[in-house]
Amino acid sequence: VADLALAVDIGGTKLASGLVSLDGSLVQRATVPTRSGPAAGAAGPGSDELLWGDLAELVTGTASGVGAGDRLVVCGAGCGGPMSPGGEEVSPLNIGAWRGFPLRARLAELTGLPTFVDNDAKALALGEGWVGAAKGRRDYLAMVVSTGVGGGIVVDGCLLEGRLGNAGHIGHVIVEPDGRACPCGGHGCLEAEASGRAIAEITGESPKLAGVDMIERVGMLVGLAVASVVNLLDLPLAVVSGSVALGYGEPFFRAAQAEMDRRCRLDFARGARVVPGGLGDAGPLVGAARVGLHGLDGADGADGAP
Ligand SMILES: [Zn+2]
Repeated sequence: VADLALAVDIGGTKLASGLVSLDGSLVQRATVPTRSGPAAGAAGPGSDELLWGDLAELVTGTASGVGAGDRLVVCGAGCGGPMSPGGEEVSPLNIGAWRGFPLRARLAELTGLPTFVDNDAKALALGEGWVGAAKGRRDYLAMVVSTGVGGGIVVDGCLLEGRLGNAGHIGHVIVEPDGRACPCGGHGCLEAEASGRAIAEITGESPKLAGVDMIERVGMLVGLAVASVVNLLDLPLAVVSGSVALGYGEPFFRAAQAEMDRRCRLDFARGARVVPGGLGDAGPLVGAARVGLHGLDGADGADGAP
């Protein structure tokens, strides 16, 4: 008999669900594209329920795949932000159909399980600290550079929450004071300069086709933002994943590290490392499972260790 977590990841490109063992192995997964366009992805009458219908069908299918004798103990979900505390109401920037959608309660009703929801980048941070590139570390930043840019921060072994649970939004650290307009309403945020969406707008083609100059610029900007966080919070490690960062690979990470080496000059910050995430494309679901297990631990009164 094995206990399993039911993991759910909700992104602007795809919805995913899976089963994760209590040692952090992703044992089953399924995905469907996120509805987009005027039918549902954008706001419109009933679009929120159409998207929920897709997710409910996916999650129900995954839950029905639990083997005889195995047992689901929790549902954990990662979703794009912003959201209210605990994911009671989610309004992902890149999913127009959901504004104030009651995600946690819907998932709990659907699955009949204790259910916990958090920001997808914070979920990834928990996953990387559990079985990924930050395993065993008590102080680190984990971030995603893909269509958007997000992050989660662990300090003294605890995931930072902030007043409303939104701590870690490194995508909105300013890297160009007079830079491009950002979806948040500001200017020159890392997300406005170095996300996949920004790269596509700047180059006029897929981020996958970016030349070495753009790859090195994106790496430099990520290193610049990470250096500020390292200096602010005394972190020795940044773990970076996401399709843009992992797709660009070595030249991206070399440029990011070089910028950090230039900018992290205080004794405690010198030598801070930026490394690729260790969970690959399993990261979002492994992280979502950890959100669930972390929630169960919290409910039992344990500390906030990732
Ligand atoms: Zn911004």
